[in-house]
Amino acid sequence: ISGILEFAARHYAASEIVSQRVEGDLHRYTFRDCHRRAKQLAQALQALGAQSGDRVGTLAWNGYRHLEAYYAVSGSGAVLHTINPRLHPEQLAYICNHAEDQYLLFDACFLPLVEVIAPHCKTVKGWILLGSAKRMPAASKIANLLCYEDLLDAQLGDYAWPDFDENAAATLCYTSGTTGNPKGVLYSHRSTVLHAYASALPNVLNVGSRDVVMPVVPMFHVNAWGLPYSVPLSGAKMVFPGPALDGKSVYELMEREKVTFSAGVPTVWLGLINYCVQNQVTFSTFRRTVIGGSACPPAMMNTLIDDFGVEVIHGWGMTEMSPLGTTGGLLSKHLDLPKASQRQILQKQGHAIYGVDLKIVDELGAELPWDGVTSGSLLVKGPWIAARYFKDEGGDVLEDGWFPTGDVASIDPDGFMQITDRAKDVIKSGGEWIGTIDLENIAMSHPAVMQAACIGVFHPKWDERPLLVVVRKPGQDVSRAQLLAHFDGKIAKWWLPDDVVFADALPVGGTGKIQKNKLREQYRNYPL
Ligand code: ATP
Ligand code: MG
Repeated sequence: ISGILEFAARHYAASEIVSQRVEGDLHRYTFRDCHRRAKQLAQALQALGAQSGDRVGTLAWNGYRHLEAYYAVSGSGAVLHTINPRLHPEQLAYICNHAEDQYLLFDACFLPLVEVIAPHCKTVKGWILLGSAKRMPAASKIANLLCYEDLLDAQLGDYAWPDFDENAAATLCYTSGTTGNPKGVLYSHRSTVLHAYASALPNVLNVGSRDVVMPVVPMFHVNAWGLPYSVPLSGAKMVFPGPALDGKSVYELMEREKVTFSAGVPTVWLGLINYCVQNQVTFSTFRRTVIGGSACPPAMMNTLIDDFGVEVIHGWGMTEMSPLGTTGGLLSKHLDLPKASQRQILQKQGHAIYGVDLKIVDELGAELPWDGVTSGSLLVKGPWIAARYFKDEGGDVLEDGWFPTGDVASIDPDGFMQITDRAKDVIKSGGEWIGTIDLENIAMSHPAVMQAACIGVFHPKWDERPLLVVVRKPGQDVSRAQLLAHFDGKIAKWWLPDDVVFADALPVGGTGKIQKNKLREQYRNYPL
């Protein structure tokens, strides 16, 4: 992993890294500086006594010090464990203890949180505040509090990255916990580097040295979809938004730094688009984005393409896949198709990226045809798919090398995959499947709807029927009857939701995904 940063520091030494700091100002330096400081950090970890294989956690937003940790921790032989700071303190302590983190690096803004969890995290020998001495509190309840900049200053940086077994553990990340308890996924140096190379290919992220890349996908989430590892290979300038992820802050930073490419989950783009529409502003340089983590609603895709001129690439993946599996787009034969047909293809989660194999199977495990219509359980295979969960006694999760994703999908004859639903979210009405993603997309194409989630609710005759939970846009109104009428002609009649409830907000997990298990719990006894 350290070889990637070493490459960037030699070949793109002066390429810039710009970070919005937790302190409020912008920090600028180059890949050469980043490499020097990463070596100092690796040396500092060694001086502290971190051993090969020890887990070193991070609780940090997207920023340059987090990037240094990405390379220094794994580069020193330890395992980088990125942690989602939006989790509840109890979940945080659970994850730290489960991972047995030895050191934990954290942004200064998380000091109050760290004070709460530190007494419960039994294995942590040092809490390292990502800042200089002036950010250190005069007094703190944390016994073993260390200062990041002081640790670096004490090192010369004359460090030679050691060589490792390529299969040694390098990074650890827990799944989003959308469907249950988060599971720890361990990646090797080999899988991380191969994924970085594959992501840097033209038909995947396709960034080059003229690009300015802003990862808005959090660095605590699946190595920020690999961007911090793949972008340095390309020589692009990197811009980190820090903690400021609201529409206004993201927009202003993108404009100031002339961002051309970004990647994030749909909820972040929702905030950005709303800001632009409300303030009647558009992008001067932003040209392309990867949207994934959950399905990109067609209405959002159309707005980005038609109103803002931004190319949207749908990305599908999972924590267990490092995370990229497929990316959307068009083939040359699609270029002459009418716009509406092209949009339908772009709406698919896309083609397997090089190195990944896909198949869909029925309930007995028999492979299903790639006809674009038949849906089945999606299985994946490839060099960066984690074979087992960290500390999981259940053993190997692979069946003959194939990983069951828990998603239901169809694949068309060109190999374009489309997610129908998560297996756990599919509604089974009278023995027939109803996919919830389609219903949500139709609801969200109504101008008054901001967000929609569809869940299966007990029905005395059909076992389960769809209930639509809707959040209206501020100041907009739509009734139950108007919303149901909006489905007319767009779906088979028996797919029509049985009822609509209006909510102020939907429950979202730490990575911004709607937690349908919570909704199902909430509406468990909803009378249909
Ligand atoms: P957990 O496994 O803990 O329940 P999770 O599955 O949400 O949580 P992640 O690994 O972050 O954890 O997410 C992977 C899942 O996200 C995929 O299995 C899929 O259901 C969904 N997903 C990712 N990208 C897309 C996409 N482009 N379109 C639709 N769904 C997507
Ligand atoms: Mg999952």
